[in-house]
Amino acid sequence: MNSPVLSIDNLSIEFPAYRSTVKALNGVSLEVRPGEIVGVIGESGSGKSVTAMLSLRLLPERSYRVSSGSLHILGRDMLAAQEKDLLKVRGRDAAMIFQEPMTALNPTRRIGRQMTDVIIHHQQLSKAEARAKAVALLRDMHIADPEQVMDSYPFELSGGMRQRVMIALAFSCDPQLLIADEPTTALDVTVQRQVLLLLREKARQRGTAILLITHDMALVSQFCDRVYVMYTGAVVEQGITAEVMAAPQHPYTRGLLSGLPEQVEPGQELMTIPGQVPNLSALPDGCTFRDRCAFAMTKCSERPPLLAIDASGQRKSACWLSMEKQAS
Ligand code: SF4
Repeated sequence: MNSPVLSIDNLSIEFPAYRSTVKALNGVSLEVRPGEIVGVIGESGSGKSVTAMLSLRLLPERSYRVSSGSLHILGRDMLAAQEKDLLKVRGRDAAMIFQEPMTALNPTRRIGRQMTDVIIHHQQLSKAEARAKAVALLRDMHIADPEQVMDSYPFELSGGMRQRVMIALAFSCDPQLLIADEPTTALDVTVQRQVLLLLREKARQRGTAILLITHDMALVSQFCDRVYVMYTGAVVEQGITAEVMAAPQHPYTRGLLSGLPEQVEPGQELMTIPGQVPNLSALPDGCTFRDRCAFAMTKCSERPPLLAIDASGQRKSACWLSMEKQAS
């Protein structure tokens, strides 16, 4: 099997805060192999965005402490990499697409200038060649009039068009990994689907792997080959998307799925998971989902490990209940 483009092993990080420590990631292991589209899903506070940002070392340095584990992109140790090495990795080997392109695009510079700067930074091209490449990339993103977009400022474009520009920028140096953090949350539903279809089409054409960070189970089910479900900074379930959707093992995954419209009869209310994500600076002992879980039992006062629940070892769940089922 091909080596993973992104490999995270037993990663734990903390953010020191006033009189407390926020345990944002607690032993996360995750892998993205070449060409795969992998989803990471969870509510706010699950650690999914921290995982995405840390993968490219985009969290403010000295704001966090790594207490265990490792993180590699294409075999490079990202936690030990120097800033000059990180600059080479970002954009060339791995690129990021954010929820709101306005935060990534410079509002005072035309799109063409921003794109050619990025292309020239990573590739030995003249200005004219970089411009031609930028136009071709925009056209490839199904933008009908790329020259006009090149001459526009970001604020002159719609949200969907800005996100297409971001996708073009992300692909501009043919990275092997794209990390997309809630890339369509700010868009309306129709545009959301168009943008994700475009992202998947272009990734498949180029063999680019995608790590898709989202809170939306419907997006995972439509676009991801495999999924990791995160809760309180840990993976609680993982597997091939179709298998997880068909038979979720962890009660938290079941809760996320029960919020999907297709899971309820017409006229029935959509389910939500009761309660709230616990405070990450004071995580309870035992299973951290216990206070919200309808199946909690005495054993759940001990923290359940993430263990394989099928013969392939690919499907895993961190729940005493799924382990009991497995044993019976
Ligand atoms: Fe619920 Fe217990 Fe499973 Fe946690 S370990 S999800 S509390 S059944």
